Amino acid sequence: MNAPHLLTGDRPTGRLHLGHYFGSLQSRVTLQNTHHSFILIADVQALTDHFHHPEKVSENVLEVLKDNLAVGLSPEKCTFVLQSQVPEIAELTVFFSNLVTLGRLQQNPTVRHEIRQKQALFGESVTYGFLGYPISQAADITAFQAEVVPVGEDQLPIIEQTRELVRSFNRYYGEVLREPRALLAEHPRIRGLDGQQKMGKSLGNAIHLADPEADTRQKIMQAITDPQKARKNDPGRPEVCTVYTYHRLFQPEHLGTVYQECSTGSRGCVQCKQELAFCVNQHLAPIREVRQELQHQDAQLSEMLLDHTEQARVTSKATLQAVRKGMRLLFK
Ligand code: ATP
Ligand code: MG
Repeated sequence: MNAPHLLTGDRPTGRLHLGHYFGSLQSRVTLQNTHHSFILIADVQALTDHFHHPEKVSENVLEVLKDNLAVGLSPEKCTFVLQSQVPEIAELTVFFSNLVTLGRLQQNPTVRHEIRQKQALFGESVTYGFLGYPISQAADITAFQAEVVPVGEDQLPIIEQTRELVRSFNRYYGEVLREPRALLAEHPRIRGLDGQQKMGKSLGNAIHLADPEADTRQKIMQAITDPQKARKNDPGRPEVCTVYTYHRLFQPEHLGTVYQECSTGSRGCVQCKQELAFCVNQHLAPIREVRQELQHQDAQLSEMLLDHTEQARVTSKATLQAVRKGMRLLFK
């Protein structure tokens, strides 16, 4: 297949959520028709901040795969890749590590932000592995010669660092690697239920695709709204309200009405949240149904994932041959 290569993926640190759905999964579903799509389950990267809980990572590998399949990714169209089973990625990570300085890694705004968030884990001193995860992510992308990387906004600095690494590699060792570009979705940063941070698996502020209806409703009913709207008929400020940002996703055609009713005080937060919960549950129902069917197919899904990973290695092995040749390394 001569289609352009695409790589994207998820860390198996928990179930996928609405941030993934609007920030990445929807564009994966469209792009699988035009791109040779590698969907990476990044278990090695997940260990950079879950090294003390390997069971959490392994438990979530198939869950993440199921979420991807449930939203409409097809095993006939995409290649699913289990990162730990691709030794070429680890090898390329080592080669790349010569081409980036500690200062550059420490400046990466996403990594800086995540280190602050993980203060309880890392304390005053972060591990070499976590600080260096942008290098291994660059290896994920380039090992599969991906041109396009659909990501959420938080990943832009990581893709920028990949581009720098590729330019640097090609300058020293010849034009071996392809420089990728990030592709942002229409909604590249979905806010979490806390109203502060991005929705994230590790942040306890997510609506997961697989959450039961009642849990979804309960989470929405507890979401932060405009703190100045204390009573039902107080005029609200939709522009600061998290629930309003979700209406934008689930019923864009009614957004004007929601805005007008909220800001004039004719819409109370309880009614507004009930309406949203209904829309979200309606939208997620078919996804949950497929997911339910996949729930008892772990053996087949593991086999499929490992088969796909072997197919994907045809590409990563070819890349590494070219890399070793460019680097003048002796190999068979
Ligand atoms: P973790 O907390 O373990 O880092 P996560 O929720 O950030 O998990 P990842 O697996 O790191 O999820 O991200 C997978 C992809 O989903 C990335 O491209 C990321 O940019 C995108 N993504 C994650 N959260 C959001 C969000 N809230 N809005 C938009 N895109 C998102
Ligand atoms: Mg993340």
